[in-house]
Amino acid sequence: MATTSEKNSVMSTIKNVTVVGAGTMGNGIAQVFATHGFHVILLDTNAAQLEKALATIHKNLDRLVGKETITTAQKETALAHLTTSTTLATAVSNADLVVEAATENKAIKLSIFEALDAAAPAHAILASNTSSISISEIASVTKRPAQVIGMHFMNPVPIMKLVEIINGKETSEATTNTVVALSTTLLKVPCVVNDFPGFIANRILMPMINEAIYALHQGVATKESIDTIMKLGMAHPMGPLQLADFIGLDVCLSILEVLHEGFKEEKYAPCPLLVSMVADKKLGVKSGAGFYTYGV
Ligand code: NAD
Repeated sequence: MATTSEKNSVMSTIKNVTVVGAGTMGNGIAQVFATHGFHVILLDTNAAQLEKALATIHKNLDRLVGKETITTAQKETALAHLTTSTTLATAVSNADLVVEAATENKAIKLSIFEALDAAAPAHAILASNTSSISISEIASVTKRPAQVIGMHFMNPVPIMKLVEIINGKETSEATTNTVVALSTTLLKVPCVVNDFPGFIANRILMPMINEAIYALHQGVATKESIDTIMKLGMAHPMGPLQLADFIGLDVCLSILEVLHEGFKEEKYAPCPLLVSMVADKKLGVKSGAGFYTYGV
């Protein structure tokens, strides 16, 4: 846990935060930073996605006001701290911290980090919200590997307490300490882990989700039965198939591919049903259909 003086020091060194990617995770990350007084620029290459993200943040903040978790004034302050951009160079030119939450694809992330390294101030920490991709590999395309770290928030970000913090091979202790203290400032609980495929959260979660998809694929039970068994039998808040829909089936597939390629073990091979659903653009909540259907 960060001490009060460590928290104060974080707030004095990190004021401007750029969040790259305004999808499922990016909008939640932007909301949490803005609510805690940071100046946030939310960046996406897709302008429509930025509009959708802003609408989601408005809705979430209204809900918090409705529940009296925050006041209307706090909502207005949070929104005043948040702007959007489609241009990377301007969005990061003043950043103290960048949290990248773009598509879970190694080539995309490497090219984003190269661009971030060129455009962000020398002191800025570059964090990735990647679920599984090697932080050391991401850091290797920058000239500041000591300032590159994994900051893996959980979905939905405003609600989930955990931040899995991943040290790359060259991440400095100062960077880790800053990101740990920062997470505490956001009222999250940081857990520091080392850089292995899938880290801890997804190394354990994804094989379970994949197994649930195999069980459905093999006709062992209906999707409802699989989810109910895991909910009531294991006290999970939601079943693995419903959770996969919330995470995004494309994200689940990408993570399993990283585990499969990284460990070279067949137990991580993605179930063919998952592969075909992603090919059919059945991505879960964000596309309106996955194992279940949703209003979008
Ligand atoms: P998503 O598909 O919902 O959103 C990704 C966003 O990135 C899209 O809006 C896309 O337009 C944008 N993007 C793509 N290339 C870009 C670029 N070059 N510059 C700026 N924006 C770009 O994905 P998501 O579920 O929000 O996942 C984002 C990251 O968070 C991934 O690394 C994922 O593994 C990780 N993550 C996801 C979850 C989850 O439950 N979905 C949980 C934890 C971590």
